[in-house]
Amino acid sequence: MKYAQGQVIHDGNQDLYKLLKVSTISTYLGIPHHIHAEGVRGTGKTTLFRGVGKNLPKIIRIKDCVYNCHPLKPHCPQHKDLNREEVAKLETEWIQMPFMEISHGAKLGTVLGSIDLKKITDQNQPLAGILPGVIPRAHRGIIFIDEINRLADTSPELTDVLLDVMGTKPGKVQIEETGLTKVELQVNLGVWAASNPDEDPGSLQNIRKQLSDRFDFSTNVFRPAEPKVVQKILAGQSNPKTVEDDLNRILKNFSHCRTKESESETEGLVDFPQELSELLAKIYIDYSIESMRAIKAIRFGAIFHALMNKEINYDNNSSQAGLLNTGAYADSVDIDDILQIAEHTLKHRVSDETKKSIIQELENYKYRKEQPQVSNSNYDNHDQSHSKQDFNKKSTMRSQQFISNLVSRIKRSLQKPTKEKVKTTGDRGKSLMELAQEDKDSKELIKEGKREK
Ligand SMILES: [Zn+2]
Repeated sequence: MKYAQGQVIHDGNQDLYKLLKVSTISTYLGIPHHIHAEGVRGTGKTTLFRGVGKNLPKIIRIKDCVYNCHPLKPHCPQHKDLNREEVAKLETEWIQMPFMEISHGAKLGTVLGSIDLKKITDQNQPLAGILPGVIPRAHRGIIFIDEINRLADTSPELTDVLLDVMGTKPGKVQIEETGLTKVELQVNLGVWAASNPDEDPGSLQNIRKQLSDRFDFSTNVFRPAEPKVVQKILAGQSNPKTVEDDLNRILKNFSHCRTKESESETEGLVDFPQELSELLAKIYIDYSIESMRAIKAIRFGAIFHALMNKEINYDNNSSQAGLLNTGAYADSVDIDDILQIAEHTLKHRVSDETKKSIIQELENYKYRKEQPQVSNSNYDNHDQSHSKQDFNKKSTMRSQQFISNLVSRIKRSLQKPTKEKVKTTGDRGKSLMELAQEDKDSKELIKEGKREK
């Protein structure tokens, strides 16, 4: 069977599935975002990670390059110094984005790589003799670590490696061999990790806060709560949209995209309104958020979320199907994209209370945006009750005005000559003259209403 049990998407794992898609898009585009999922045993989080991991889209590389060199951006020891003409002569091939696992008991040499002394002719050039480990070989793909809390607890060396890999985008690894020059390699990959905070040694956040903060997104995974979901799982039925189809559908819009060099290159992908930038900056200051990563992750998560959903919308609309192959992107990030992501970037970084206030502030912003007729000049972001009162007061004033207009209109119509009244209440429809007269009446009424004020 192609689809594993955990790939039935339900209320308990849909957030993880959403983040997996966001992370896949970001990694594919060269700005990987990392995910940590927490859940007790039996929630199927590991199965879902692996299910998506085995269905990742294809990338192009220089043929047979174990470091997965992009033909336009070769970075490995063998290809990085070649000029354009030399690279152009090399063959290319499509491979599935790498998906590799690191267990909590892995050895440093296996993960990073080692230097084959026999291969080195010049001791000052150890690059040529590297036997790349799991991380360098997963370049442009995903590394999955189950039980990351145990790794953080028992292997400080591996934890330091992850801090380097995830510290910047792209990250780096250093391979050392006694007596040789240290070798540094650039790696750009997404890290996906799972842990069970209820089991020894406890939550990652408490074991190694710094590593926890490196994850752009964090989420909880729960068991399915509905019997019909369990039935589906037992019957081996996945959602009709399979993971593979889902990802390919999203990514075909980006297939012609150049791999990004830096975060600033996302600017061309989708518009991030200035007003939303200001909102995020204000939240960062007002709530004294310790980690700038949290705000950056909201921003980029929202960008990738916008791209993802825009594509889905196009797909649902057959009349716009032509856009699928022309590289049509989401035109702008909106507050809903931010709301879809914010929870997951704050969960592991601020207190529950702060997180709730921030989400509330974002909701308030959305509320205001959906009520464009309300003036927000005196609006205070921190005081939701104040804004609601303000809004309620204004809408009450408007309805009072409407009712008083209506009452005076009824009064006037009652004062009209009886003859006219009979005409308009008969079975026949109104004549054009009558309608014109009524219209004139209502215009006068409005004028009078203005004078009354
Ligand atoms: Zn290469």
